[in-house]
Amino acid sequence: MPAETKLWNRVEQTAREVFGTFGFGEIRLPIFEPTELFARSIGLDTEIVAKEMYSFEDYDTSELLELLESRKAALTWVDSPVTQPFGPLGAGAQAIFQPFSSVIGNVVRLGLDAFQKGRIPRTPDNERLLADLKDGIGTFVGSLNSRSLSENRQAVNSLKGLVGQLRFGDSLCLRPEATASVCRAYIEHGMHALAQPVKLYYMGPMFRRERPQKGRYRQFYQIGAEVLETVRKEVASGEWLVASAKDAATDAEVIEMVMAYFARLGLEGVQLDINSIGHSAPACRRGYVEKLKAALEKVKDKLGADSQRRIETNPLRVLDSKLESEQAIIEKLPRIGDHLCADCAKHHAEVKRQLELRGVAYQENWRLVRGLDYYMRTTFEITARGLGSQNAVCGGGRYDGLVELLGGPPTKGIGFAIGEDRVILSLQEAGKGGAAQGRDVYIAWMGEKTLATAIRAARDLRQAGFRVELPPVEQKFGKALGQADKLGARYALILGEDEVASGQWTVKTLADGTQGKYSEAGLLEFLRKQKS
Ligand code: AMP
Repeated sequence: MPAETKLWNRVEQTAREVFGTFGFGEIRLPIFEPTELFARSIGLDTEIVAKEMYSFEDYDTSELLELLESRKAALTWVDSPVTQPFGPLGAGAQAIFQPFSSVIGNVVRLGLDAFQKGRIPRTPDNERLLADLKDGIGTFVGSLNSRSLSENRQAVNSLKGLVGQLRFGDSLCLRPEATASVCRAYIEHGMHALAQPVKLYYMGPMFRRERPQKGRYRQFYQIGAEVLETVRKEVASGEWLVASAKDAATDAEVIEMVMAYFARLGLEGVQLDINSIGHSAPACRRGYVEKLKAALEKVKDKLGADSQRRIETNPLRVLDSKLESEQAIIEKLPRIGDHLCADCAKHHAEVKRQLELRGVAYQENWRLVRGLDYYMRTTFEITARGLGSQNAVCGGGRYDGLVELLGGPPTKGIGFAIGEDRVILSLQEAGKGGAAQGRDVYIAWMGEKTLATAIRAARDLRQAGFRVELPPVEQKFGKALGQADKLGARYALILGEDEVASGQWTVKTLADGTQGKYSEAGLLEFLRKQKS
């Protein structure tokens, strides 16, 4: 709603101003991207990719009508035997299962045709699946009679499984975050050739299928920034990942920028947590994760189902747990800070020193691991007041190597994403919400002969930047003033036939009821003075 939008605009405008002073430029990113971009960067075992993405197959329905029908028929097909015999079905199998083989036959025929015409993606996977289905029908029909009912049902299900894997279009998804998109754009636009580092910010909606609650939405808004720097010198693969003092200063400046932004907004109760999750080498994070996993195995039966699952899929995520019963156990687990390699430990110490130099207060939090695969070394999170359990307003970290993973040159990266909805909520809780759109001037015109002057006055005042309300029909004086008051106007310009004739317009200051007379030019001057 407009009153709230005003606050949103202030939050966005302030970001533009503050980020601009740090040398960042805005990048506008697409709302949807290939699903694979996020699967590759964020990681398959993360909550986001495993269950929260809004992805869909992108194809022209009208070109694939029959194929779509045949796929649906195959996937929903069920047998209907008259009896439930045990053992081989013999000739009875034909009657029960013959229909399914023709349904699959349709999928193969229409699928091959669409494949040849390029109406479905000509991928090796689709080619293989169609060939397997074709062979599968032969085997299915050939062994029908010698199979039992349940064996035939299994064969049906495995053919259905193959049909389900056929891709009819590219898989696209509504972006769940934007760092991967920024990296994709960096590569696609050859930004490594620009002066380094490249500093970009973005804002806009993101989409995740989460359980909606206060501060957690399925369409939410992020404001984020990224610093990307391609490593130019020729170094042996992997070696460029060594941390440099420059990286630590960049990390600290990026964090300083978010904190400066929050301060400018007047966000209250802001707290910065930082951590280092090292890098992926065996002598660093990988070694730590092994130790963590071993320690978790020992206490497995005391953990909840989510954490038990994560021991296998993503042990670091166990540290994120908010489950009361797990807290004491987690506190006793090995800590990453004790297992960082010398290089990462040095980098972390330097980030802290740089933050101190900049007067940025922080708290160390060894459990801050962040849920996305691409982070390394510095991770940070910022919380604010008035948000209940969803109190994180910003998350970020370093992601050297992500651009390379996506097919670009060796590039270092650090960035963050701010949850704009939550920033707004926190500001509103603190009474810093926006007011309704007010008016500077309400034009109370009376008498048909004054309308032309009123229209001209409205046009000139608006051109001079004032917010003007021009009632479409004539009103009685009392009603006009009441309306001006309701709209929160500061002045009423009273235009009666006398005013128009004399060229001396009456202006009433609504706050105190004082009145003055001004020429047209004098009015503009008066209003300008009041504004400044
Ligand atoms: P992430 O991209 O998960 O690191 O999140 C960064 C920030 O975005 C969080 O600290 C939140 O402020 C915000 N955020 C993430 N998911 C949601 C959501 N579903 N609804 C509202 N804000 C969110």
